[in-house]
Amino acid sequence: MKTEWDIIVVGGGPAGIFAALEAAKAGASVLLFERKREMGIPVRCGEAVGKVDFHSYTEVDPRWISTEINTFVMVLPNGKEVKLKSNIYAGYIINRDLFEYDMAARAAAAGACIRMRSNVCDLLKNVSGEICGVRVEKRGTFQEYHARIVIAADGVESRIARQAGIASVLNIRDIEPCVQATLSGVDIPEKALYLYVGTCYAPGGYAWVFPKANRCANVGLGINGKYSKRGRNAESYLQDFLKRFFPEASVQRYVSGGVPVSTNLETLSLKNLLITGDAGHMVNPLNGGGITHAIESGIRAGKAAAGACRKPGEMQSLFDVYEKDIYRRFGKNHESQYRIKELVYQMNDEEYNRIGEEVLKIDLKKRSFLAVFRKVVKEHPGFLADVLRAFTGI
Ligand SMILES: Cc1cc2nc3c(=O)[nH]c(=O)nc-3n(C[C@H](O)[C@H](O)[C@H](O)COP(=O)(O)OP(=O)(O)OC[C@H]3O[C@@H](n4cnc5c(N)ncnc54)[C@H](O)[C@@H]3O)c2cc1C
Repeated sequence: MKTEWDIIVVGGGPAGIFAALEAAKAGASVLLFERKREMGIPVRCGEAVGKVDFHSYTEVDPRWISTEINTFVMVLPNGKEVKLKSNIYAGYIINRDLFEYDMAARAAAAGACIRMRSNVCDLLKNVSGEICGVRVEKRGTFQEYHARIVIAADGVESRIARQAGIASVLNIRDIEPCVQATLSGVDIPEKALYLYVGTCYAPGGYAWVFPKANRCANVGLGINGKYSKRGRNAESYLQDFLKRFFPEASVQRYVSGGVPVSTNLETLSLKNLLITGDAGHMVNPLNGGGITHAIESGIRAGKAAAGACRKPGEMQSLFDVYEKDIYRRFGKNHESQYRIKELVYQMNDEEYNRIGEEVLKIDLKKRSFLAVFRKVVKEHPGFLADVLRAFTGI
């Protein structure tokens, strides 16, 4: 078994798969380790992605699309539905299992080597203390693999980032425990995303109902970690939600997972190491969406790593560009979105209802996300700058 590689990728989620694909396409020898048994499974995700972004990263196979979304509805604590203007959101609920499985096959076809059921347990360092590979456990056997560059795409709890000495542990208020049930036999509008806002549904977060094909739906919620207590956690809020809104539905699958709702990690690279996707906390802290950020950062990491293998003398400058690009693409926005999240998720149910009622007075054709946040700013003027920045990216 070959043990010397240009690039080792740790983790086979969207970030790792796209990093491996790009690096292999650029001619690097790439080895990807994933600890799961099967690519794409289990699906710990609501599976919502923006349509334009999704198409911009790869050729989309129609089998990956479960439903197409064009309507966005916010449900208030008092039960009233605040529909936003039509076509405000163009997105998909994807079949993430098929998407990841197929993309991993594309990475392999481009030359990447994929190893499943392989748990990366340690980062290797040479006598000078530089990262030079990983130690992997596979079915009770340990093996060392060496590489010029390691890409950490190992998700929210990134062991690799921590082992590299990067302070990546999240504060409890910056991680959302999320739970989700995939239901069948539900009758909901096929093209609408429903977000339920308010502490009665999900304190410090929100609940979602995302339609899938064949009368199925991903129904889940995330609460802020600081509200999670023994006996009253995300799971108990989900059970209350299901009893209230979908008492008759069958549950096909339960999943849970943590979502980083912080700002991006400040350090995304070290000598011979790049960090990408959730491992770098690249999730939008306001809505918890991270699939497209993981894809884009994975692509950029794969390209930067392959470039550094070709020209080792330029590694530092290529990695600096990677960090700067990530900050420019989403890091900067996440700082504003983080501050808005801190405000929005501290509102009580009366405030949600009051602001929602104000939004309902706006003509449907003019009800945009900006219109909603304008009403929030009216109640909390101190957040004008952050709202403007989040919407303009300036
Ligand atoms: C319940 C829930 C719902 C969500 N809904 C949405 C949504 O609707 N839309 C959206 O955009 N985002 C959503 N997200 C967030 C989204 O899932 C993540 O942002 C995205 O998966 C990040 O991709 P990633 O590749 O960085 O990490 P991951 O998808 O977490 O992949 C990391 C991979 O690394 C593997 N791994 C970890 N450690 C090791 C190791 N030591 N050795 C080998 N392999 C390892 C893991 O098994 C995993 O497969 C949701 C998250 C949750 C938990």
